Amino acid sequence: MSTATLARLADVRADATHCTFCPKMCRFACPVAAATGRETHNPWGIDRAVVALADGRADTAVADAVFACTGCRRCGSACLPGLDLPTHVRAARAQLVAAGVAPHVAVPEARAPLGRLATEADAEADLVVWPDCAGSGAADDALAAVLAAAGRAWALPSEPVCCGARAADVGQAADAEARLAHGRDGVAGARRVVVADPHCARRLRVDAGDDRVATVAELLPELVDALPLRATGERAVWHDPCWLARGLGVTAAPRRVIAAVTGRPPLEAWPHPDRTGCTGAGMGLPATHPAAARAMAEGCRRDLAAADADVVVTGCADAGATLAAGELTERQVDLVAFVANRLAP
Ligand code: SF4
Ligand code: SF4
Repeated sequence: MSTATLARLADVRADATHCTFCPKMCRFACPVAAATGRETHNPWGIDRAVVALADGRADTAVADAVFACTGCRRCGSACLPGLDLPTHVRAARAQLVAAGVAPHVAVPEARAPLGRLATEADAEADLVVWPDCAGSGAADDALAAVLAAAGRAWALPSEPVCCGARAADVGQAADAEARLAHGRDGVAGARRVVVADPHCARRLRVDAGDDRVATVAELLPELVDALPLRATGERAVWHDPCWLARGLGVTAAPRRVIAAVTGRPPLEAWPHPDRTGCTGAGMGLPATHPAAARAMAEGCRRDLAAADADVVVTGCADAGATLAAGELTERQVDLVAFVANRLAP
């Protein structure tokens, strides 16, 4: 029985071909194409390159198009056939890596949990925390502080784990599968797995079909009523991380958490969760198309700054690192740190 969790080029070829007959209904939605102004970078152009690759054309022009996707899934909500472009892109990138014409994008290694998350873990707990390879000690501490304040014990994987999402994104498919298999061994006995990064949560829940998986944004509403919180009355604006909102459909839970903390619903920087700004930090775009990624990050920061909030909250380490610049430097915070920082002494 195959244990593959990633689609191959042959699996997505029919859908990509279908896309090339479409009148580009989603063209307006793609932030990469908007940033570069190139038809080869919109979803239709990318799927044309996917089909060309399936027909045997592996060259730098095809690679340029296939690597011009940041995985935001904004095209998905405008796509009547319901195509999932990041799945096509991952399959095509794997083929380009095998053909030796893909740009190399570095992928972080699994890291050990840090701070309180490591020192206060309880090996007997049935809730296991899966840290983010790209996260920080501050994020680990914040999650530990919130769990402890809510009276919830947590365990950790038996050794550092990685789901392979970032490797899958840049075509390193064999590495991605190996990381996932090893990581899942590390949480084999868990009843519930709380995953720090929504991108990793999608890889585990959707790619690997692991229904024990929850994101931190989904866990927090269960905890927030039990937390001793300071009333702050702040105006907070929520930035939907792409892999959380459109990758997993989680949009209400973080808004509920912010409302519980501040006493008011968060401000909105965009009219609908399907259309929220993408920071351009995903799927290796900053390495392969840095000017487009920079333009997207600047546009996202501008839209969030225009909401005129006291604090900008997001739920993804990559997005947070990208947003914490310019006038948002001091105002940007991850959702779990936002809650932890407002715990009463
Ligand atoms: S997932 Fe985002 S970046 Fe990729 S093709 Fe769709 S809209 Fe463009
Ligand atoms: S992704 Fe969907 S909406 Fe966009 S061009 Fe392809 S088929 Fe059309």
